[in-house]
Amino acid sequence: MKNEKYYTFMVVPHDSQGKGFSLRIPRKLLYAVIGSFVLLCFLFASSVVYSSILSRRLVHYRTAIEKNQEQKEVIESFSEKTKEVDQAIYELTKMDKQLRQVLGLESWKGKMKLSSKMKSYLPPSQVEEISEKLKLADAELEQRKESLAQLKAWVNNVQQRFAATPSCWPLNGYIVSRYGYRTYPWKGLHTGIDITGRYGSPIKATADGVVTFVGWRQAYGKTVIVQHSHGVSTLYAHNSKYAVRVGQPIKKGQVVCFVGTTGLTTGPHLHYEVRKNNRAINPIAYLNLNILTASRAWRE
Ligand SMILES: [Zn+2]
Repeated sequence: MKNEKYYTFMVVPHDSQGKGFSLRIPRKLLYAVIGSFVLLCFLFASSVVYSSILSRRLVHYRTAIEKNQEQKEVIESFSEKTKEVDQAIYELTKMDKQLRQVLGLESWKGKMKLSSKMKSYLPPSQVEEISEKLKLADAELEQRKESLAQLKAWVNNVQQRFAATPSCWPLNGYIVSRYGYRTYPWKGLHTGIDITGRYGSPIKATADGVVTFVGWRQAYGKTVIVQHSHGVSTLYAHNSKYAVRVGQPIKKGQVVCFVGTTGLTTGPHLHYEVRKNNRAINPIAYLNLNILTASRAWRE
């Protein structure tokens, strides 16, 4: 081994007593030692780095699992909610339909419009089904809202019309003379009905309206006329006293005058007329109306 090269390490003491020494190492061995040392250092460093990465990942993984669990619960509660919403919509639709049937209205045929109000709440991929359901529910609710608004408007309309329609007795008493041709006490067309009542009893307006006449009218005596909507008016005659003046707005049931014997009468009674477009019609049909039967009177 002639070619072998050596490195010599010498330790030389600084004082004269000390003994120095030298170490002769073959070059290959030195390289091997240095190489192994570097490798060891590298291995150690990389294991430290790797383990720190791993532990960080583990933490991430754990939070991911927790988050997942949370999301799952949220999704489950969502799906529970959509079921409830579905049920509520079903009930609502049923009631809507029944109400329309009772009122004789045609059933609601709204076109479906998809609203995207719910979109922003939901992550796009996972809960598409629920999101889709909620969108449908939203659209369905929108429809019900429209339908109910229509119903409400209809009911309001009917209520207003009913309030302005003669629908009750102006005076509690008996009908002693009906509408139509008669021979007693005077021959000719009797343009209203006569209801008996004690002298001075209050007479009530049979519908909302405005007083258009208060005064004396030949055979009618002291007379009050109230104008309602749709060309309908009511007339109260033979009164002893007035309780209203011309131009006054009147509510159904409000006292407008009192029973008397003015004009052509044989005793205290109310002569009550219902007029449509100023032509007297039979008031009998207008004495006991409710909000449902009133629509028949409106068709005539
Ligand atoms: Zn009469």
